[in-house]
Amino acid sequence: MNTVTIDRIGAHTLVDAKTPMIDPFGRAVTYLRVSVTDRCDFRCTYCMAENMTFLPKKDLLTLEELNRLCSAFIAKGVRKLRLTGGEPLVRKNVMFLVRELGKHVHAGRLDELTLTTNGSQLSKFAAELADCGVRRINVSLDTLDPEKFKQITRWGELSKVMEGIDAAQAAGIHVKINAVALKGFNDAEIPAMMRWAHGRGMDLTLIETMPMGEIDEDRTDHYMPLSELRDTLAEQFSFSDIAYKTGGPARYLQVAETGGRLGLITPMTHNFCESCNRVRLTCTGTLYMCLGQNDAADLRTALRASDDDAYLSSVIDEAITRKPKGHDFIIDRTRNKPAVARHMSVTGG
Ligand code: SAM
Ligand code: SF4
Repeated sequence: MNTVTIDRIGAHTLVDAKTPMIDPFGRAVTYLRVSVTDRCDFRCTYCMAENMTFLPKKDLLTLEELNRLCSAFIAKGVRKLRLTGGEPLVRKNVMFLVRELGKHVHAGRLDELTLTTNGSQLSKFAAELADCGVRRINVSLDTLDPEKFKQITRWGELSKVMEGIDAAQAAGIHVKINAVALKGFNDAEIPAMMRWAHGRGMDLTLIETMPMGEIDEDRTDHYMPLSELRDTLAEQFSFSDIAYKTGGPARYLQVAETGGRLGLITPMTHNFCESCNRVRLTCTGTLYMCLGQNDAADLRTALRASDDDAYLSSVIDEAITRKPKGHDFIIDRTRNKPAVARHMSVTGG
């Protein structure tokens, strides 16, 4: 049974459930990923269609409500929180939320507050992010070629992202680069990206493309298993598997030639669900217990039902009992529908 103590922070009551959130498979939920908006200033071809229908603005939680929800999760044992999207830095006044959540870092209630960004707005916000307690961020970057960058993001400008990375590093934030591995698009460029990232003290993590949401092309055209890419890269680089972990699903290799680390996120070829420690919250207050499944819990109704977090806490507990064992993504040409209808930008990857 949960011991419930009430702790006042700002205007809200926080429910401190002494029993951690443990799912039916014995996994403790300590990591919350929050998509603060499903909107974005890019239209990456593997992520979105060019003409997207976004969630209705009227359904969005306010930043105050998102803060209250996040704080309830922190009180229930979440130690790492990642803001994502859509593009988190295009949500109006998002720094209010970052500053509020940063208070949990400064008070020792949260080990890490981080974000995943496309970097387009980073030069504007880097110093403030650092001031709020953000120590590490992931920047998504699939190519170092300005023309190819335009092609893959449709609307993006590589120079802006580069300025953003410079600003983040100048502010003392550790940057990790995430790249989706796309056959025939950036596979030949990965060695150069590795040398560039490692030369600047940044890890590079490669991600397999996942079948989420309708896009304007066939994902199988560019899908690339990372086992295949690793074998090709091993002709030029010496890799050793290392135990390094950042709390996410990446497995890391040490690269002898560059002295840096290469991360591999392999949802398609190597299922990592057995160690899954996270749940995902959308900007409308829907909680997804798994990125690759449709089951969800409505936390917006629970949040608005009462100013006291006790009811909200019980709804979260019930949702955790429904966390599934894992996802079952498949990419093949015989299935012409994505495994999950919602786009990655809804749950934030
Ligand atoms: N806009 C931010 C960004 O791009 O970093 C945050 C949200 S984005 C959805 C988070 C990550 O998901 C990015 O690294 C992006 O490359 C990745 N992503 C998007 N769609 C994907 C897909 N279908 N398969 C694999 N990764 C995907
Ligand atoms: Fe936007 Fe990120 Fe999706 Fe690209 S991957 S369209 S930057 S949400």
